[in-house]
Amino acid sequence: MARIKLVVDGFQCERCSHKWIPRVKRYPVICPSCKSPYWDKPRRNKRKNVQKE
Ligand SMILES: [Zn+2]
Repeated sequence: MARIKLVVDGFQCERCSHKWIPRVKRYPVICPSCKSPYWDKPRRNKRKNVQKE
């Protein structure tokens, strides 16, 4: 059997850079590695709600 390259949809955690392929066809709620619910949120804004200038 020859080697082939498979391209599948996966996710990468913004927090711990963990990459995984979802087993279920559902948008992951948390990162399976660091359990962060904000795995898809970039780190830029630490506190969105608290913005006083
Ligand atoms: Zn993570």
